[in-house]
Amino acid sequence: MDYNYIAELLFPNVTLTEQELEERYPQRQLPEGAIVSRMAPSPTGFVHLGNLLMAITAERIAHQSGGILYLRVEDTDQKREVPGAIQILVDSVKYYNVNFDEGALAEGEFGNYGPYRQRMREDIYHVYAKRLVKEGKAYPCFCTEEELVKMHEEQEKSKENFGYYGKWAIWRDRSTEEVEEQLQAGKPWVLRFRSTGSIENKIKFTDYIKGNLELTENDVDMVLLKSDGIPTYHFAHAVDDHLMRTTHVIRGDEWLSTLPFHIQLFSALGFKLPKYLHIGPLMKMDGESKRKLSKRKDPEAALTYYKQEGYPVKSLYEYLLTILNSNFEDWRRANPLTPADEFKFSYKKMNPAGSLFDNAKLLDVSKNVISRMSAEDVYEQSSEWAKEFDSELYVAMTKNPEYTKAIFSIGRGGKNPRKDIALWKEVRGYIDLFYDEFFKVYDEYSDKFGTNDIKSALVEFAKTFNIEDDSNAWFEKIKDIADMLGYASDMKAYKLNPEIYKGNVSDISMFIRLAVTGKLNSPDMYSVMQILGYDVVIKRVNEMIKSL
Ligand code: GLU
Repeated sequence: MDYNYIAELLFPNVTLTEQELEERYPQRQLPEGAIVSRMAPSPTGFVHLGNLLMAITAERIAHQSGGILYLRVEDTDQKREVPGAIQILVDSVKYYNVNFDEGALAEGEFGNYGPYRQRMREDIYHVYAKRLVKEGKAYPCFCTEEELVKMHEEQEKSKENFGYYGKWAIWRDRSTEEVEEQLQAGKPWVLRFRSTGSIENKIKFTDYIKGNLELTENDVDMVLLKSDGIPTYHFAHAVDDHLMRTTHVIRGDEWLSTLPFHIQLFSALGFKLPKYLHIGPLMKMDGESKRKLSKRKDPEAALTYYKQEGYPVKSLYEYLLTILNSNFEDWRRANPLTPADEFKFSYKKMNPAGSLFDNAKLLDVSKNVISRMSAEDVYEQSSEWAKEFDSELYVAMTKNPEYTKAIFSIGRGGKNPRKDIALWKEVRGYIDLFYDEFFKVYDEYSDKFGTNDIKSALVEFAKTFNIEDDSNAWFEKIKDIADMLGYASDMKAYKLNPEIYKGNVSDISMFIRLAVTGKLNSPDMYSVMQILGYDVVIKRVNEMIKSL
């Protein structure tokens, strides 16, 4: 085959040169050891939690080293693309504060190494495709879909490996005339890589997460350009990661199987192979066994889920750090107030088999994260959530912001802050008692207490309650009620001889708590009453007395 001649026939319009491209995208001027990485998702309209996990890994590794993180949209597979998908993608990563230094935006892009959408880079790919043909490293294949299906069936029948290789690679060594004839007849073609590998050979490879691997060489003549001239992922990523000067590729380990081909491809193109970090999938427990977190089966696989449920952005971020780096949790315990980006992230601490997603643990992390926030932050973030997902709550909580912030201040700020809220969705159940329009008595008194005792306690409380009392004076009055009704006011005395009392002071508190808050559990009662004010407290106590 006359390679030069075929190259001209296949790519008559290539005018750019490799040299021009090398100059257009110069080596980046970065400090020694700086890492350049990227997030390179396909715009399918669905953003998986695993995408965020990989983006955070890439972001941490790049930025901690003084390097660059960029966003490249891999839109070469138009069948999978849905309208608005890029917007969804860009919005999600932005919402989760993944900071890109350059890359695609919903409208346009920023940075000097673009275009950052693969569909806009066709002319660039063709420069390299043409060169590979000239060097005899790639060739056109005119097989039809039916021929390929038939080939697959025959391979199945004769129990041979699937694929376009060896004797099956029927367009590999055709004459110039045969190729020209097909082209003149307007037959569609794909461009295939001419593999020089053999499955008899093993190659050694070191992945930064998986460690030392021994892989079987690739012998398949894989497709580089599809019949519409658009590259496959394999070819596009090699060209892009070279020209965008990527030093570290962080991607899912489903790409390990084609890594031998990628290694060949970089070498055929004369590009330096980047470092690879292949990340295992996010797993979850399903009964006794583990399985992949699935887009189809698990709502929690979708990033949108976390926003709807009201997980603070920071909670998800800290949870992902917890499962990415085994030492993050200890670090967080030792440094409860330090911003998470001061944690020294290391890919060496990542689990080669992938991380286990555990919702209970995420809720726990989230409770801790929220407990460390200021009342102001809790107010801002939860009202932002309510604005979108609970408009009734939004109206109530924003009517008087200072009042709502006072609610969020209860038990906050000390060494052991209260951990009542894990999700913004739970805010309603936490603050509803402070709003008359939501107030409701949810719980009941246990029938082990006499109604008369409850009534008497409430009547006495209403009689003596003074909003000006400090918490000590307030509690002394509750103790007095306990003594008056034959309930122990002193817990030590109660523990010594419980049988001589009807109960103790905590039961009296509970009588009042249920009347005032409608619940058996509530934040600190004294603080609650201070916020509600005299009138509301007395009104609720009187209503309870009437209902008994
Ligand atoms: N578009 C590929 C994917 O979504 C990207 C893999 C990579 O990061 O290179 O799996």
